[in-house]
Amino acid sequence: MSTNPARRSAIASIASQPRLKGTFDFRNEKIDAIYGQNVFSLEKMEKRLPKDVFKSLKASIESGTKLDLAVADVVAAAIKDWALERGATHYAHVFYPLTGYTAEKHDTFFEPNGPGTLAQFSGKALIQAEPDASSFPNGGLRSTFEARGYTAWDVTSPAYIFDGENGSTLCIPTAFVSWKGEALDKKTPLLRSMHALNKSAQRVLALFGKKSGFITASCGPEQEYFLIDSRLFHLRPDLYTCGRSLFGSKPAKGQEFEDQYFGTIPDRVLACMMETERECFKLGIPIKTRHNEVAPAQFEVAPIFESANVAHDHQMLTMTLLKRVAAQHGFVCLLVEKPFAGVNGSGKHVNWSLGGAGVGNLLEPGSDPHDNAQFLTFCTAVIRAVDLHQGLLRASVASAGNDHRLGANEAPPAIISIYLGDMLNEVIEQVKKSGSASSSRKGGTMTLGVDTLPVLPKDAGDRNRTSPFAFTGNKFEFRAVGSAFSVAGPLTVLNTIMADSLDKLADELSAELKSTKDFNSALQKVLKEILTKHGRIIFNGNGYSEEWHKEAEKRGLKNLRTTPEALPEIVAKSTVDVFSRQGVLSKDELHSREEIYTHSYVLSVKTESKLTSDIGRTLLLPAALKFAADLTPVADSKSGGKLRKDVLALADELASALDALDKARDDEKSDTHANAAHACNKVLPAMLKVRAAADSLEEIVADEYWPLPSYQELLFLR
Ligand code: ADP
Ligand code: MG
Repeated sequence: MSTNPARRSAIASIASQPRLKGTFDFRNEKIDAIYGQNVFSLEKMEKRLPKDVFKSLKASIESGTKLDLAVADVVAAAIKDWALERGATHYAHVFYPLTGYTAEKHDTFFEPNGPGTLAQFSGKALIQAEPDASSFPNGGLRSTFEARGYTAWDVTSPAYIFDGENGSTLCIPTAFVSWKGEALDKKTPLLRSMHALNKSAQRVLALFGKKSGFITASCGPEQEYFLIDSRLFHLRPDLYTCGRSLFGSKPAKGQEFEDQYFGTIPDRVLACMMETERECFKLGIPIKTRHNEVAPAQFEVAPIFESANVAHDHQMLTMTLLKRVAAQHGFVCLLVEKPFAGVNGSGKHVNWSLGGAGVGNLLEPGSDPHDNAQFLTFCTAVIRAVDLHQGLLRASVASAGNDHRLGANEAPPAIISIYLGDMLNEVIEQVKKSGSASSSRKGGTMTLGVDTLPVLPKDAGDRNRTSPFAFTGNKFEFRAVGSAFSVAGPLTVLNTIMADSLDKLADELSAELKSTKDFNSALQKVLKEILTKHGRIIFNGNGYSEEWHKEAEKRGLKNLRTTPEALPEIVAKSTVDVFSRQGVLSKDELHSREEIYTHSYVLSVKTESKLTSDIGRTLLLPAALKFAADLTPVADSKSGGKLRKDVLALADELASALDALDKARDDEKSDTHANAAHACNKVLPAMLKVRAAADSLEEIVADEYWPLPSYQELLFLR
C-alpha cells in the first residue's frame, strides 16, 4: 500500500532534501558587528544631529512627548540620510491595530525631479501619517464618513530598517488614533499605562523618601512556536487557513517519551533559529535563549527583558521574523495556541516588573530592612491589583485559540491566582498576622522596616508551572498569555491596575501618617489590611487539581472558562473606573475593544467551523466512501465485510455530524454577544463531533486513501 500521491511526494521530497548549507556563519560574521546595525539608535542620533536637536529629541524620548515640527525636520533629514546609505528606498509608519497584528503602509522616498528623482522625507512625514483607517476595526468609535486615523511616531521606540528580499524599508513605530484622539491600537494604551504607572510608583517612593528617574514597566516575553515542514503544511487546508489542525487522530508517538524538551536541536531547525536570531540582532532585539519545547516540533525563543513598550515592538517583530525566516528554510512557523490536539500548546510567558534609575528593580527583595519594606509594599500592591482585577486579567488573554489551552492541564487554569513560593508566602503570612510594630519575628510575625527578609530563591516560581501568575525572584511571570497574543494587552492591564493599587496604597499610607509619626507601624497597618482583604488570590498548590477548582470557588475567585465569559470583564464597572481614573482608556474605548474582540471570536469559530464542514464533506467523507466502495469485491470475506461495515457506519456518523454542524452554524443570533455564546456552546461542540467521527475513520481507512498528512508526519518529519 502506498500513501495518497500528494502526501507521498511531499514525504519523498522531505526524505531526499539535501543537507542545508548555511547562508552565513556566526564564526565569520560577528554578532558584535551586526548588533543594532539596522536601528537608528541614540548613538547614531547623537553622531548625526546638531547638539541642541539631539538634546530636544532625547528629552522627548525620555518623557514620551511629541516632537515639535522644526526639530522633526532636522531629525527626518538625518534619518533619511542614514536610511539611504543603508539602501532603503521606502519608509513606513508601522502600527498595531486591534486585529492584534502589525500594519504598515509604505511610501517611497523618491519623487520625480526633472529628468531624475529626488529623495524626500519631511519632519511631518516622520512624525505623522494618515492611513485610511476605515478598514481597521474600531468597534463603533468612528463612523466611516469620519474614517480618518492618524499614526504618530512613538519616539520612545527607535526607527529601524527592515531588510526585505529585494529592498529595504525604513520603519517608524507609531501609535494609531482616531481624529478625535481615541486609541485605535494596542500601543497607545500601553504608553498611557506606562505613564500612569510611573506617576503612581513615584508617589509611593516619595513616601519612602526616595526620588527616582522615570519608573518603567519591564517585560521579557518567552515565545513558544511550532515549526512544520511547508510541503506537508500545504496539504492541510486547516493549517494554512486557521493555523490549527481541525482533524487528526492521535499519533502512535506523541510527547509521552519526554525526549524533546531541552533535547538536541535538529540541524535544520537550528539553522533556521540562527538566521532568525541574526535578523533580530540586526534590529537590536536582544534574543538570549533558544531551546526545544515539550511537544514534538515545538520550540522557544526568549529575549532579555526591555522597557515594556520596546519589548512589545520587538516581540511583534520577532513573530514576523520567525514566520519569514521559517519560510526561507522550507518551514512554516505556527504561532497559534493549540495547533495540535493531544500535545502541548504554545504560550507566551510575559515576565513583568517595574523599576527606574536610582531605585533599581522595585520587585527585587532588598538587602536591608528598609528596602525589604519597600519591596513588600510593591508586592502587596500587585496582590491587591490581581485580586481586584482577576477577571480583567483573564479577559486580557482571552481568544478562541487560547481557550483550547487554558485549563487543559498543560497551561495554567482559567482561574487567576498568584504563586509566591513558600518563603515569600511565609513572610506575607507574618505581615498579615502582625498586630503592632513591636511584634517580633519569633512570634510568627514580621516587623516591617525592622526585620530582614530571608533570602528568597530566584527560581522559586519555576517549581510551580501550574500557576498563571507567579513570583519568580524579582519579577512576576504571567503565564496564561497565548503564543499568538500581542503582549500589549496584558501589559496595559498589569500597568494600569498596578498604578491604581499604588495610588490606593499611597492614599492610605498618607492618611495613616497624619495620625502617627512612626512610618513602619503605619505601613504595617496598611499592608496588613490589604493583605488580609486580598490574600485569597494567593495559591501555592497545584493549579491543575480538582481540589483547587473547588477551593477557588469557596474563596470566591472567578473561573471564566471561555472567551465569551471572560470578555465582558473589559467593560465591567471595576475596569471602567480604574482605566478612566488612570487615564488609560475611556469607557467608549473599552467598549469598542470588547466589541472588536467578541466579534473576532465569533469570526474565528465561524471560519473554523466552515472549514471543518468543507474538509469533512469534500475530502474526508468521499475518501471513506471510496474506500468502502473499493472493499465491495471482498465484502464476502470476514475481514473485508467487517471493515466495510465499520467504515460505512463511521461515514454515516460523520455525515450526520456534518449536518448538525451546518445547522448549528446557520443558526445566527441577532447580536454579537449571543453569537459568541452560541459559537462557544453549540458550534464548537458540533465541530468536535465531526472531528471524532473523522479521526476514527483515519484510524481504519487505508492510508493511500487518506488525503490529509497525519499528525505523525506533521510532527516528526523534517
Ligand atoms: P525562566 O523563566 O525560563 O527561568 P528567566 O528567569 O531567566 O527564565 O527569564 C525569563 C525572562 O524574564 C527573560 O526574558 C528575562 O529577561 C526576563 N526578566 C528577567 N528579569 C526581568 C525583569 N526585572 N522584568 C521583566 N522581565 C525580566
Ligand atoms: Mg519563564
